[in-house]
Amino acid sequence: MLPTHHPDPELLMDYAAGACSEPASLFIATHLALCPHCRDEMEKMEWLGGTLLDSPTEVAVNPDSLTQVMAKLDQSVPDNGTGRERISGAGEAGPQAQIPRPLSDYVGRSFNDIQWRQLIPGFSEHRLDKLEGVRASLLRIRPGKNMPLHSHDGSELVMVLSGGYHDKFGSFKRGDVAVADAEVEHQPIADLGEDCICLSITDAPLRLTGPIGRLINPFVRF
Ligand SMILES: [Zn+2]
Repeated sequence: MLPTHHPDPELLMDYAAGACSEPASLFIATHLALCPHCRDEMEKMEWLGGTLLDSPTEVAVNPDSLTQVMAKLDQSVPDNGTGRERISGAGEAGPQAQIPRPLSDYVGRSFNDIQWRQLIPGFSEHRLDKLEGVRASLLRIRPGKNMPLHSHDGSELVMVLSGGYHDKFGSFKRGDVAVADAEVEHQPIADLGEDCICLSITDAPLRLTGPIGRLINPFVRF
């Protein structure tokens, strides 16, 4: 099953431009490893970025450049392999319990080897201490359990890595991305059958307003 909840295009664009912070880069690289749709988008953006750099004058004097840019985004992209080396592990397949390659540099290759710290019965955490400036964790919820009500001081990016959960916003499976902030009240419930394991990145307490796309900016501008 392919992801249906994707990161905001703005965040993908920043990643393509190399403008993401380490936590945001890790998050996007992990999503790309699981999501063919966003890998295609990324290739278009990188190809487009290269095209613009190759002809800055022409673009600058053309009043229709924005229209052309948008049109190019919809065109198919020649498969020249650009950008693939940076996204290590992109496209790998395997059992659900396999940790995507970008993330394995931080937490190892198997969920079974992770040292979990139980917060409350049915809910455990493993902190990614290498990442500074944010609270980055793997969260594990036992099948059928409610995630505890938690307040978000800032904003939180969550991606399912194994199993799944559902809440009033929908059903989230492996690779699916959710964004939450202090205004979002929900109580995710892990699907039955297997543990739900998520990657969670929470920024420092920041007041954020505006459309949901802006919620992720603090991750980028750190
Ligand atoms: Zn995606």
